[in-house]
Amino acid sequence: MKHRRGIGLAPPDHHAVEIDTVTLTTLPQWYVIYARCRACQRQTLIERRDVARRGSRDLSLAELAKRLKCRRCGNRSGNLLFLEMQPRD
Ligand SMILES: [Zn+2]
Repeated sequence: MKHRRGIGLAPPDHHAVEIDTVTLTTLPQWYVIYARCRACQRQTLIERRDVARRGSRDLSLAELAKRLKCRRCGNRSGNLLFLEMQPRD
């Protein structure tokens, strides 16, 4: 007799993720990632596939945020990442 384990776990009550440890690989698919430039407030959706192609998929989100460069003004410092839950099917 095999017992299945690890199913039916309740999702956490809150949606916070640990950006110091979560990477694009471990972040659940239903999160959408946005980046915002601190200098000019430009906001852009981050395409996970683009980041993965650049080899940054194993960086923590905190590390990723430090590498962001604004496409409008070129600012690299203090840029923010934030996450939004996408409604799941
Ligand atoms: Zn900018």
